[in-house]
Amino acid sequence: MKISDITAPKPSKDSLAAAYTRINQMLDEGDLAAGIAAWDEQRRQYETWSSLTHLHFEQDTADEIFKAEKDFADELAPAATSHEIALKRRLLAMSNRAAVEAITGAHALRLWQTDVTTFDPVIEADLEQEAKLYSRYTALRASAKIEVEGQTINLSGLAPFLQNLDRGVRYRAEQAGWQFFADNAAEFDDIFDQLVKLRHGMAKKLGYDNFIELGYRRMRRIDYNAADVARYRDQVRAHVTPLVAQIMEARRKTNGWDKLHSWDESLTDPAGNPKPQGDEAQLIASAQSMFEDMAPEMAAFFKAMNEGGFLDLTNRPTKAGGGFCTSFPTAGMPFIFANFNGTHHDIDVFTHEMGHAFQNFSSRDLAFDYLWPTSESAEIHSMSLEHLSYPYMSHLVGDDAARYQRLHLIETLQFLPYGVLGDHFQHEIYANPDATPAERHAIWKRLEHMYMPWRDYGDIEHGAKGGLWQKQLHFYGLPFYYIDYTLASCCALQFWVKSRSDYRAAMADYIALCARGGSAPFQELVASAGLISPFADGALESVVKDAQALVA
Ligand code: ZN
Repeated sequence: MKISDITAPKPSKDSLAAAYTRINQMLDEGDLAAGIAAWDEQRRQYETWSSLTHLHFEQDTADEIFKAEKDFADELAPAATSHEIALKRRLLAMSNRAAVEAITGAHALRLWQTDVTTFDPVIEADLEQEAKLYSRYTALRASAKIEVEGQTINLSGLAPFLQNLDRGVRYRAEQAGWQFFADNAAEFDDIFDQLVKLRHGMAKKLGYDNFIELGYRRMRRIDYNAADVARYRDQVRAHVTPLVAQIMEARRKTNGWDKLHSWDESLTDPAGNPKPQGDEAQLIASAQSMFEDMAPEMAAFFKAMNEGGFLDLTNRPTKAGGGFCTSFPTAGMPFIFANFNGTHHDIDVFTHEMGHAFQNFSSRDLAFDYLWPTSESAEIHSMSLEHLSYPYMSHLVGDDAARYQRLHLIETLQFLPYGVLGDHFQHEIYANPDATPAERHAIWKRLEHMYMPWRDYGDIEHGAKGGLWQKQLHFYGLPFYYIDYTLASCCALQFWVKSRSDYRAAMADYIALCARGGSAPFQELVASAGLISPFADGALESVVKDAQALVA
């Protein structure tokens, strides 16, 4: 299968209405199985079209046609949601609910029950506006032209400079990156302010006190709540923050620095962070060998992805930032988008997105609602594969495999306090929707000091006054997603611990978990893979100790 083979008809408000009328007629006629099957097919087609449209835009944000198509998709999305929600309501209200459950599985009904509380036609225009504001953020970020060491680069291109062995280069790169955010501070504040107020308004219209509860429901969290998340944040603060502070202090001493500054945090290895060997083509070939050693299923899948053109890995000037995996449910083949820049992040992104892709491919024949799990579960698939690739990492980094593993474990630990900080920040933001931009920066600064007390921005004012959150696209476009990485990390580390005593068994559990897709809620999936819930006492502390033994 080639990426160019994948197409889907462009929908319109009329075609959507007609499709849903047809599905409803089947239900009217009492043909439940046919109606649900037709709905599944309809959602696959819509999703394939929507994914393609968004992917094209992300691949070239400067292309006017792609931009117009993507704007059209964003405008149409609330109408599609409206039809979907109406159908979910209808199925949930049926007298023979057991018959629905027999076809879709019980978990789908629990998901729909959550979904129907997140939408009412009264917020359709707000959702359109929300997508537009996030587009503004994406476009603003993608517009960055940063001058460093005589080169003009975008934000994704900064990483190699931020990891340079020369402290002066790192400092100038950090300065230059921040300068872009300082120069556009008013616009970044304005977009966020509008998003927060819009989301708060939607929550009020739907009968919530503020956006927090609605945000959780939009994430389809059905088996844990904000109190569980708050306890998890406390565990990170208790068990990980002191450890990372210790690692940073050791780094300062080793290098003989008077202070450790923010521009010293990305250089994890005093000999220089290990880098992937060779260009993109070489890396793909090496990855193929690595996946062959890891699991034959994964190797076959990766080969098909590569041969079909389902990888777009290298950074280009007008490409949107970040990395992600998207899917085309009519075809069952996912797509990996990344911004390779020659640093070890390329490997992290590669193994991470490959985990998402492999899961999505493994569950391609499940019902539409189960193609992807909720995101804290999805991130287990991606983050675990980062750790499970350690024993075969020499394919990608040669003799630096041990150094790569150490670096990756340190960065895993370093991420946890930042991750929960981002989550805590959003809770405060949405609890206080009327805060001014200056107050929002003060909130970040206070929480940053709590979770990352080592952070020192030196003379970089925008960082020092609490501006870091503006660099994180999730806080703009994917509210409350951030904790999911930290919950998944606790599970991924458990897979790593298991793999050290029995690699094949850990890999088999991992592959089985991928095949389960989103057929169960988070903690049920976790238990089914033989893992302990991150919310359980001691779960985080235990894996952190294992990692600490290797890095501290
Ligand atoms: Zn991910």
